[in-house]
Amino acid sequence: MMKDYSGGCACGAVRFRCAAAPLAMYNCHCRSCQLASGSAWAPLLVVAGHALRIEGNPKQHRPQRSRGNHATRAFCPECGSSLFALADNNPSVMLVHAAALDSPDTFKPVADIWTVDALPWVRMDRHIPKMFKSPPILEPEDEVTL
Ligand SMILES: [Zn+2]
Ligand SMILES: [Zn+2]
Repeated sequence: MMKDYSGGCACGAVRFRCAAAPLAMYNCHCRSCQLASGSAWAPLLVVAGHALRIEGNPKQHRPQRSRGNHATRAFCPECGSSLFALADNNPSVMLVHAAALDSPDTFKPVADIWTVDALPWVRMDRHIPKMFKSPPILEPEDEVTL
């Protein structure tokens, strides 16, 4: 049984704590993650929704260009840090931006996903699987070894 892990935005207005190990961690290359992160991809934890406790009031929006099955995104309204996304095809989980963890090196990605949108100059880890679009839907009991 692992210990809780926590994180938050850059300014501290939004904090979160999670009481269960992530079901998986993916590097998501979809356009929505590129826009939300301001980078080429977003490392996302898939977390059972019931295990996540959020303090503060993240603001939600739905990007115009919604791909990746996580169109609804949440960020800190004070500092703009991207924090969460909802998995539109799986309401039992939340996606957490791994960069927002207090210890962002705690977990490591198990696959690159939405590589259909990956930028041509990105060098991915060739030792982990690639998925053209969405990964299989994970339920909270489907824990993937990290
Ligand atoms: Zn903030
Ligand atoms: Zn994505």
